Amino acid sequence: MEPVVKTESLWKIYHSGKVEVPALRGVNLEIEEGQFVAIMGPSGCGKSTLLYVLGGLTPPTSGLVLVDGNDLTQMSDAERTLLRRRKIGFVFQRFNLLPTLSAYHNIALAQHIQGDGFDPHRFEVTVALLGLKERLSHKPAELSGGEQQRVAIARAVVSDPKIVLADEPTGNLDTQNSETVLRMLKQLNRELGQTLILITHNPEVAAFADRILHMRDGQIQHSEPVVASRLA
Ligand code: ADP
Repeated sequence: MEPVVKTESLWKIYHSGKVEVPALRGVNLEIEEGQFVAIMGPSGCGKSTLLYVLGGLTPPTSGLVLVDGNDLTQMSDAERTLLRRRKIGFVFQRFNLLPTLSAYHNIALAQHIQGDGFDPHRFEVTVALLGLKERLSHKPAELSGGEQQRVAIARAVVSDPKIVLADEPTGNLDTQNSETVLRMLKQLNRELGQTLILITHNPEVAAFADRILHMRDGQIQHSEPVVASRLA
């Protein structure tokens, strides 16, 4: 089976005034569909850049990037946006919920933006898996950090993306909420079959994954299977 994500000699160079910043320096990567992959590495090594390129948020400079068979290097900004809406769900460290909308509307809006309209069954399954049934009428400020992140995860997965990209999703949570959020992410990965790619600094978080990619200086240094991956 073709991997759902594949890169070859992927470079990303930012231009900051006259200075060139090579954030990715020839990344070669293959991720199978349904895998849960953690990306680790020191600050500034290119983890977020890799996630943003794979998610179509920023264009690659050169190399090959295939996402579900689509070559991102050949796409216009508009095509990448469409691919992102249809195939990618994002989860961020700071939740990024819309503060004036209830949890319900934060999640439902994602389905509308994705373009296929509202699917009540899918909505219900997602909300139940994330334990949010009783919290739907609340606005983000009325929810705990863990609950806000669960709403953000529901928003990311509700339109059934192929790939969920999570940038330090537990970075703003205490230990207990981190544990809950990780177990739910893993359960979603297992039950819905979405490929999950997650950035973390924390080895305890990475231990939930099937595989850990270690990055340094814009490259993947090595890839390590997690032998006794923590269960959902
Ligand atoms: P990490 O997520 O591992 O901390 P990043 O991908 O955020 O690393 O950053 C990789 C490198 O690219 C760093 O040197 C960072 O300063 C630089 N960088 C990231 N985003 C930009 C940007 N928008 N413009 C210029 N340089 C950037």
